[in-house]
Amino acid sequence: MTSTTQKEPVTSVLPEEVNIWEAQVARSDFAARKLNLNEGLWNILRSPSREVIVHIPVQMDNGKLESFTGYRVQHSIDRGPAKGGLRYGSGVTLDETRALASWMTWKCAVVDLPFGGAAGAVICDPDHMSRRELERLTRRYTAELFEILGPEKDVMGPDINTDEQIMGWIMDTYSMHVRHTATAVVTGKPLGLGGSHGRHQATGRGLMIVCDEALKKLGMNRDQTRVVIQGFGNVGSNAARLMHQRRYKIVGVSRSSGALYNRNGIDMDALWNHCRVNKVFQGFTGAEEIDPAELLRSDCDIFIPAALENQITTRNAESVKFRILCEGANGPTTAEADSILTDKRVFVIPDILANSGGVTVSYFEWVQDRQGYFWEESEVNGQLESIMRTSFAAVLQYAATHAVSNRIAAYMLAIDRVAYTLRQRGIYA
Ligand code: NAD
Repeated sequence: MTSTTQKEPVTSVLPEEVNIWEAQVARSDFAARKLNLNEGLWNILRSPSREVIVHIPVQMDNGKLESFTGYRVQHSIDRGPAKGGLRYGSGVTLDETRALASWMTWKCAVVDLPFGGAAGAVICDPDHMSRRELERLTRRYTAELFEILGPEKDVMGPDINTDEQIMGWIMDTYSMHVRHTATAVVTGKPLGLGGSHGRHQATGRGLMIVCDEALKKLGMNRDQTRVVIQGFGNVGSNAARLMHQRRYKIVGVSRSSGALYNRNGIDMDALWNHCRVNKVFQGFTGAEEIDPAELLRSDCDIFIPAALENQITTRNAESVKFRILCEGANGPTTAEADSILTDKRVFVIPDILANSGGVTVSYFEWVQDRQGYFWEESEVNGQLESIMRTSFAAVLQYAATHAVSNRIAAYMLAIDRVAYTLRQRGIYA
């Protein structure tokens, strides 16, 4: 595969397609109409329960004081504590945080976990902050939100630019305030701090399991299935490695700094080792370097976006060649691109189902922390597999029964479950 001269930026997207909160609401509105939900009830369910904005003072290493803005949105607490990630980045917005929080509500409901949905973000540039600065930022953000966090209230987890160490700092800060060790206040912690075996690989493993199910459904087999993965972070690299071990042929991978393609398949263990030592794809001899935008149009059977939102848009959806889209990232496909994919008869495994392996094992971590009893990795992986398979079947069943796309079916299933809980609880007004 060679690079073409006319290159499209990976993030090419029309301005009206960009707002993921509006896109999210439009999709869930459509699903709610299909369910004939009472309008008043739906208005309660679709809107966030609580949105908090905090301004966080941080003493920087150079002695200067800076103020950072952070958000925590709790979209729903109807089925249990709010659950959701914390994201750091210079471009994060309140609307994005709202969208991520509501995705969590629907995602937890699709896999039938006793959690609501939340998301948090801090506007900062983590690449230009020291670990000490990030620690001070994280601890003060946690302290500012102290009243609304807790194992029974709101449980954070890692997302883009936040990691195990950051979760450890949140756990420690919260524990200092409540005056006892409260491991269940965050998930995605290091193993020694009450983390769970299998959490690190869980989202990637979940993607592999739903791809297995899709292949069964479409009568395909793994050895002849060519996979392209956009994003080689936690989700993408683990999916790539696990799928390679299960004999899928990974023909292309990308990250923000570059992309690799080999039509005969890339040896993922070799690439993993290369990246561990070199941190970059450059210099890897087992594949050709190509433009990341070109990867989207490459020949493959499964495409797994595992980087950012708004990657498959009206600008590129017509030219994609994959048969299965398995969404590792949240919101990688715009609503407008969805209808193009439907016309092309692409089998879509929507984000709220496909990438729910992460929150499922986060739930296992929370359960283990609360029990003070930890499971073997085989137990974690076995339970994850069972939940992913059951949820995949439930979504497909909804799609068939209501004659809707897999995405709308996933929303319908999730909304139906949350609405059922709310009706049973009644409205305290
Ligand atoms: P990460 O920060 O570990 O990795 C992101 C990867 O995307 C990096 O390799 C980065 O180089 C790459 N990337 C960024 N821009 C790119 C571009 N334009 N083209 C190609 N690659 C690009 O993040 P992650 O934890 O792997 O999360 C990835 C996505 O999956 C996010 O949307 C996140 O919300 C979602 N998600 C993550 C989890 C989880 O458990 N980590 C669970 C559910 C959903």
